[in-house]
Amino acid sequence: MSRPQYHGVDHHVGKTPLIRLKKLSELTGCEILAKAEFMNPGGSVKDRAAYGIIKDAESRGLLKPGATIVEGTAGNTGIGLTVIGHARGYKTVIVIPETQSPEKFQQLRTLGAEVIPVPAKPYSDPGNYNHIARGLAEERGWFWANQFDNTANRQAHYLSTGPEIWEQTGGTVDAFVAAVGTGGTLAGTTQFLKEQKPGIAAVCADPYGAAMWSWFTNGNLDDDDGDSFAEGIGQGRVTRNIEGLAIDKAYRIDDQTALAVVYQLLHEEGIFVGLSSGINVAGAVRYALEHGPGLTIATILCDSGAKYQSKLFNAEWLLENGLEPGMEVEEVFGERR
Ligand code: PMP
Repeated sequence: MSRPQYHGVDHHVGKTPLIRLKKLSELTGCEILAKAEFMNPGGSVKDRAAYGIIKDAESRGLLKPGATIVEGTAGNTGIGLTVIGHARGYKTVIVIPETQSPEKFQQLRTLGAEVIPVPAKPYSDPGNYNHIARGLAEERGWFWANQFDNTANRQAHYLSTGPEIWEQTGGTVDAFVAAVGTGGTLAGTTQFLKEQKPGIAAVCADPYGAAMWSWFTNGNLDDDDGDSFAEGIGQGRVTRNIEGLAIDKAYRIDDQTALAVVYQLLHEEGIFVGLSSGINVAGAVRYALEHGPGLTIATILCDSGAKYQSKLFNAEWLLENGLEPGMEVEEVFGERR
């Protein structure tokens, strides 16, 4: 027997299971498969970007032991940077919009990050969380992770998520579906998959209130009607991670549809995830209904529903926000087919 090799938690980012979503596969006649990213050490898909950004900065000599990493984040990147950062000897300062779920603030503080809550402001406003993080880095000499425009983010998915899906499907994957926050997941994964087989479709599932659906459909960034409660996604500009991304199809998914998927996964598959995962899976189902049957479609379960207990899994909050937890997926997709 060869000598066993042991590693710290930072080496265990990725290599997540690819789970078959049984009922939705049966409903569509396609294989609907989803990467269980909630099983990463920090509990989300953003651990991949965090690890990639930290490794890249180390190789460029930008991070020295004991250094401080600062980042503007909806929460998950901050959690990933803190978990992996602590495993590699760094401190973190996390700038986060006040609108994000209280569970994320609690988790970040428990992990030992310095948390700076800021009012939610658009990118065009100097008070936007990203500009505040950049300003702090410049002022204090900290390392700014810059997940939106640092392409080490996209590269992490090119090196891990893409090859994993290719291998786990034995090269049979026909389409990859993901929502866009920074765009790292969608761009990096599809770049790798298209290099293996150019016919693999890159599919964007966009929430309302974001501009990616219209950007990919008609090149227009102004068409960002509506709103969404999904955290971590909803982009209004072409980030450096999105640049050059070739999209084959984009869908707009409303929160009610995504929520029906979240509850279906919870009650019928034993999978507990947040709303961006619901948007991704809903996008996969829409693509399957339009282009199937017989396709193998992969998507991402971005993070755990535990981060949203006080919102998505709280009857009072749902009622206040006009969302209905009890809708059947057949009903939701039937109407939109
Ligand atoms: N879902 C959640 C819950 C997230 O936190 C993020 C990242 N902000 C995404 C989806 C989108 O991933 P990406 O940044 O790679 O586009």
